[in-house]
Amino acid sequence: MIIIPAILAAILFPLSLLWVTDPSLPPLTNQTINRIYTHKKVVALTYDDGPSKGFTEKILEVLKKQDVRATFFCVGERIEKNTDLFKQIYLNGHEIGNHTWSHELLLMKKCKFIKEQIQKTDNLIKSLGYEKTIFFRPPYGQGFVNLHNCLEKTKRKSILFDAYGYDWDKPGVKRIVKRILKKTKPGSIILLHDGPCSDPKQVVPATEILIKKLKSSGYRFVTISELLEIRTARKAIKKTDKKALKLALSEKNDYIVIAS
Ligand SMILES: [Zn+2]
Repeated sequence: MIIIPAILAAILFPLSLLWVTDPSLPPLTNQTINRIYTHKKVVALTYDDGPSKGFTEKILEVLKKQDVRATFFCVGERIEKNTDLFKQIYLNGHEIGNHTWSHELLLMKKCKFIKEQIQKTDNLIKSLGYEKTIFFRPPYGQGFVNLHNCLEKTKRKSILFDAYGYDWDKPGVKRIVKRILKKTKPGSIILLHDGPCSDPKQVVPATEILIKKLKSSGYRFVTISELLEIRTARKAIKKTDKKALKLALSEKNDYIVIAS
């Protein structure tokens, strides 16, 4: 019976394309995290594609001035060219993520290629003295079943995002801020860039405005590991346990919904 798998594929394939075009959608598998579900007003700032001279330093200055720690998903090739700047990131208390070695789209790539990209970058990050957990984010926030299967073997997850302002299109400071604020909620992961696709003249001031506005709305900035700690510390409630879920919501407790 070839017909049934063919029909299923015809239905599922176009659906899966939705996640290719918008990685901020709720994840399809537990290999991916794009926010945490919490009532706490916490938010994680993340920067992709650096480190870049004349850009990353400016972000670090703003974060220092605002006493905020962020997570930087760095590209191996760029770390290799900017080792001192890379060290400055973690010496300033920020966390580091692996954004592959050469920033290639992983959609159709084999596990061998993906593993090599991750391993080479991990090795460099560790050789430069970073000792904490190294998170992983695929380039363009994208990866199909191939990536999820491969990450499962390496016991890693994809850390994606749910709030972004298309800073790579260079739409101007106001638009970046407005779009991100509209999408930010408790437990959000904000995506910005300190790489060649973005403009420091937009991302640096946008960072400062975002921090000030979110702080004034009662938000606290956390790193990805702090966000994940909040996630694991919360009560786990199965989706089918409607009574417990209703109670948790009414008590405004933190909770995590587990699909059963
Ligand atoms: Zn990227």
